Amino acid sequence: MPNEGSPTALARRAYLQAILSRRSLTESQSKHLHRSACKVTRAPYSEDEYGEFFDQVSNSLSKVGLEIRRLIDQETNVATLALINTKGDEMAQMATNYSASELAFIKRLIQAIFTAEDEAYSLTSINALRLGGELKPPMSKRTCEKLLENLVSKSWFSYSASSGRYKFSTRSILELEGYLRNEFPDFVLECYHCKNLVTKGLACAKPNCKLRLHLHCQRASIQSDRCSLCKSSWRPLPVGEESAGSGRKPKRTRRRASEEEEEEADELEQGEENGVDFARDRLEEPTSTSTDLKRRPDSRGSSLDAGAEEAEAGAAKRFRPSERASSST
Ligand SMILES: [Zn+2]
Ligand SMILES: [Zn+2]
Repeated sequence: MPNEGSPTALARRAYLQAILSRRSLTESQSKHLHRSACKVTRAPYSEDEYGEFFDQVSNSLSKVGLEIRRLIDQETNVATLALINTKGDEMAQMATNYSASELAFIKRLIQAIFTAEDEAYSLTSINALRLGGELKPPMSKRTCEKLLENLVSKSWFSYSASSGRYKFSTRSILELEGYLRNEFPDFVLECYHCKNLVTKGLACAKPNCKLRLHLHCQRASIQSDRCSLCKSSWRPLPVGEESAGSGRKPKRTRRRASEEEEEEADELEQGEENGVDFARDRLEEPTSTSTDLKRRPDSRGSSLDAGAEEAEAGAAKRFRPSERASSST
């Protein structure tokens, strides 16, 4: 960058420091920051130069493995920027800031939220605290509460006081997208319009129709009040916390009929072998988060997981046949 000591270079540095400490901010806050950084450093300011200023900051960040990404926030529908890591795995940023046991809790939290029943993509605070108790050694309730508070304050997760549920934030969606797609491919919902992840939005009400949309993508995608995919009349159901308890099955249960028939035949055989697990799974199905964890469809040998969790993955495999049987009903 030419002339490192110039007022403009200082303004860029001031902007950078502010964004490093915040990690996530709206686009209008970012523009405001540009103006105040120029003011403080007495650099020439013009609103029109924001794009260029932003590109220069982005360039300097890319050299240190950071990137500012932009996404429309699913809750507020406002353009939001988040500073994310591009080097190493998606958990790298978290790994540097949290202890091993905290990280183990965070991974469980991510999983429980992303694989929640009913496309709810959220977890009640009671179930979030329960996750800490399942760790080896267990994490105390107080420690869990503090950690959850910290994660919300760092914009990793958001908490809805009205529903009492934890959800992903724009920051975590941006930073963890690759991780979520790799680890839980069967739970990925993509917006029909913009192809980004949907963890809050709308679902076509027609059973088996896979159309999902962000609220902010609805207008662009739905014409003449018909679903763009199945063409039935558009009466959307919610995706996200409002869907909790709706009984809507996760995406992985919606498969081609021929595929399900084949699998059902397999399952009948395997279900008999695993009679005990089968019964237990059905009993546990409606409520607990621990069931969600056991029922994760596939453990992809994540580098994040160690011994205890591998044992759990083994358990998940044992639970698979019954899981499919119960979800195809
Ligand atoms: Zn969208
Ligand atoms: Zn549809």
